Amino acid sequence: MSTALVISAHSADFVWRCGGAIALHAEKGIDVTIVCLSYGERGESAKLWKNAGATLEGVKAARRKEAEAAAAALGAADIQFFDCGDYPLELDRDAKFRLVDVIRKVQPDFMLSHSMEDPYNTDHPYATRIALECRMIAQAWGHNPGEKVLGAPQLYLFEPHQTEQCAWKPDTILDITPVWKKKKAAIECMEGQQHLWDYYTNVAENRANQFRRNSGGQAGGREAKYAEGFQSIFPRTVDAL
Ligand SMILES: [Zn+2]
Repeated sequence: MSTALVISAHSADFVWRCGGAIALHAEKGIDVTIVCLSYGERGESAKLWKNAGATLEGVKAARRKEAEAAAAALGAADIQFFDCGDYPLELDRDAKFRLVDVIRKVQPDFMLSHSMEDPYNTDHPYATRIALECRMIAQAWGHNPGEKVLGAPQLYLFEPHQTEQCAWKPDTILDITPVWKKKKAAIECMEGQQHLWDYYTNVAENRANQFRRNSGGQAGGREAKYAEGFQSIFPRTVDAL
């Protein structure tokens, strides 16, 4: 059984940025685990805070419910909430080791997280640094000797909100047309961020245009209506180009 692991700073990021990848691989029989390091309760829940009588616990509970519904719509195998707090997101040593435990248990064939930079949202690159740090610890033979050590899963960086400011440059475009309905259903679970629904539909349509162009364009390019872009960190090991 193949597996994948998504590390999301806030509880909705995985939906906009790699919901299609989650649904597509789930349909291929790959167990996808999602870790939400926080609920995005303080920084990404403005609409919920506008409700009279909103409380931190209430907002967290609503965000958890939305994220669980979205994960189910995408067919994810598991979703875990670390509740580390947001704006700022911070993980202590114990929380890092908890994430290492998840990585070693899942033994992902590939991982997904945020861009390496994001001046608008420092929680996002922080999550990526944590993903890389915990991937490294999971590979260390001296960490909890006797456990199964991690191999070398690729880390794909999913698309940030404003790519140019985040120094994010995709090298992989994934056709998510077959699962677009699932991604759309997951997007519509995020009722607190309705202002993003159309935006991320447009992003998927534009990436699909680039999928067509990069798969051959007018000279035999493959049709695609919706796509997601990713930037990979590590080199691929191949026997032929
Ligand atoms: Zn976020």
